[in-house]
Amino acid sequence: MAIGPVKPMLPFIPGHEGAGIVTAVGPGATGLKEGDPVGVAWLHDACGECEYCGTGWDSLCLAQHNTGYSVNGSFAEYVIGSAPYVARLPDKPDFMALAPILRGRHDVQGHQGNGGQTREWIAISGVGGLGQLAIQYAKAMGLHVAALDVTEGKLDLARASGAEVTMNARLPDAAAQIVRQTGGGAHGALVTAVSPAAFRQAIYMLRRRDTIALVGLPPGDFQTPIFDVVLGRITIRGSIVGGRQDLAEAVWFAAEGSVCAQIHQTTLEDINHVFCDLKAAKVDGRMVIAF
Ligand SMILES: [Zn+2]
Repeated sequence: MAIGPVKPMLPFIPGHEGAGIVTAVGPGATGLKEGDPVGVAWLHDACGECEYCGTGWDSLCLAQHNTGYSVNGSFAEYVIGSAPYVARLPDKPDFMALAPILRGRHDVQGHQGNGGQTREWIAISGVGGLGQLAIQYAKAMGLHVAALDVTEGKLDLARASGAEVTMNARLPDAAAQIVRQTGGGAHGALVTAVSPAAFRQAIYMLRRRDTIALVGLPPGDFQTPIFDVVLGRITIRGSIVGGRQDLAEAVWFAAEGSVCAQIHQTTLEDINHVFCDLKAAKVDGRMVIAF
């Protein structure tokens, strides 16, 4: 099934990692009351009945709605969430710290090489907001991390977040160096970089039998070296957000202090400057809008 990028209908309110207090509960909503701390994530709601929803893969539901995309999002003082899908946050939460966690930890979960042994290596390409969190989840799960990016500042951030190996992805032998420094290649690769070249590069960092997970969403295609993929029994797979249980676990990780996004506080009035900085790759970590 081929699908291109889906465009939202304009006008709409963007934003999909909102956190705050329930101020009103709609008719029929259960399990929540006014005053509860909650988060509104990308997966706004799903049908609950299809083969994906029925097997815990709500995030693949063809009838899902997405916060800040197909329904209005969280760049606002108030946002509407779907009761079964909002993340339950701990009491007296630090909303600034928890909002960026609402992306979930799906990116790292399931990329523990073959069978989830610890002390394996994961290569994380792209140390933006997602990549930095992915490094911390990987560390919390007992993995070694090799991180790649194209700016030294991002590589500093990767080291501060726990990456043992860091590499400038623009080096012509970056993949070969990752293989060398991880003692034979990574047991999994996660590409959050918005770059088709990074997708292709990551294939060459893997050990045989392992998986590359594509998370970044650059437009276009990338060439796949068939020979290497076939002989190496490489799995290439995409990854969008995780399910509700995954989101809950991401919140636990953050609440116990294993994961902490690097954040910068900003205001809604400044949002266009933030977008400019994001476009220019000048943001390290996550920008969080405070109200
Ligand atoms: Zn469904």
